Amino acid sequence: MGFFDFFSTKKSSNKNQEENKGSFLSNIGKSIIGKNIVDEEILDKIEDELILSDVGVETTIKIINELENKVKHDKYIGIKEIYSSLKNLIVQLMSESCNKAVPLIPDTAGLPYVVLVIGVNGVGKTTTIGKLANFFKEQGKSVILGAADTFRAAAVDQINLWGEKVGVPVVTHGMNTDPSSVAYDTVKKAVEENYDVVLIDTAGRLHNKVTLMNELAKIKRVIQKFIPEAPQDTMIVLDGNTGQNAFVQVREFNQVTDISCITITKLDGTAKGGVIVGIAAEFGFPIKYIGLGEKVSDIKVFNYNKFIDRLFETT
Ligand code: GDP
Ligand code: MG
Repeated sequence: MGFFDFFSTKKSSNKNQEENKGSFLSNIGKSIIGKNIVDEEILDKIEDELILSDVGVETTIKIINELENKVKHDKYIGIKEIYSSLKNLIVQLMSESCNKAVPLIPDTAGLPYVVLVIGVNGVGKTTTIGKLANFFKEQGKSVILGAADTFRAAAVDQINLWGEKVGVPVVTHGMNTDPSSVAYDTVKKAVEENYDVVLIDTAGRLHNKVTLMNELAKIKRVIQKFIPEAPQDTMIVLDGNTGQNAFVQVREFNQVTDISCITITKLDGTAKGGVIVGIAAEFGFPIKYIGLGEKVSDIKVFNYNKFIDRLFETT
């Protein structure tokens, strides 16, 4: 278990050890055998590993600049000190995001908690909605889903299937219908029938920014006819495997709407948990959930402290 690879469930122990790419620490470890003092070569190695782990260019540069300053001030700084500086820096860079991460369900003054789920096609929005429906239901909450991704027939079928599987109602108008009218009917029903949680699926057509902006704005307007503070969360879903694209998506969606929190999916298939550090550091939005597979239970509340601790485990 090493630096950014703790989400990966792929077994490599039965493979030739040489085939293992190695973790952040082990990769750095290889380059510093026999060295006590941090030099340019080690800083370069750390920089490479941060970039390879999808921490993102902006955050990597910030980290490396800080470490360089430290090395400049203290020519004899050791490997242990540089690790602990790295840890402190990551904690510091993630702190804004971390501090906003609770509560999971904000105080809604007895009205339904509405989550508008956004993100590009294929990132795992509908799957996350299914998992979250189950997650909230297990906590004794009543949940209703809105099938406002009306762009593809398959999307409507898919959310219906999740509704059946989890045992929660889904409001649908079918394909090619007005997404905001689905949102309207879903929230109306939720208020009239006292549901606790409303999860609204959307189509993420980022290539058509103006349409998307208008669509999301309209959805918000109709929801606010019933609940002025809703959606209390606008959650962007990101695929943890898409590297720099995830950063671009947050930037672009934030231009067309106000993101309030993040779910990062598909972290079961990646050794690149560094995307979590980068996204938290660059944007400061709270990361609420992580997706770790396709099953209904494959979702976890993101735990910052555990994440940082495991990031720096050396075994
Ligand atoms: P959407 O287009 O954003 O609604 O994405 P979907 O929910 O349809 O998911 C796209 C694909 O990703 C589906 O095959 C899902 O089963 C899969 N998927 C979603 N979340 C996860 C996850 O956390 N791990 C893995 N391995 N697959 C996921
Ligand atoms: Mg979908």
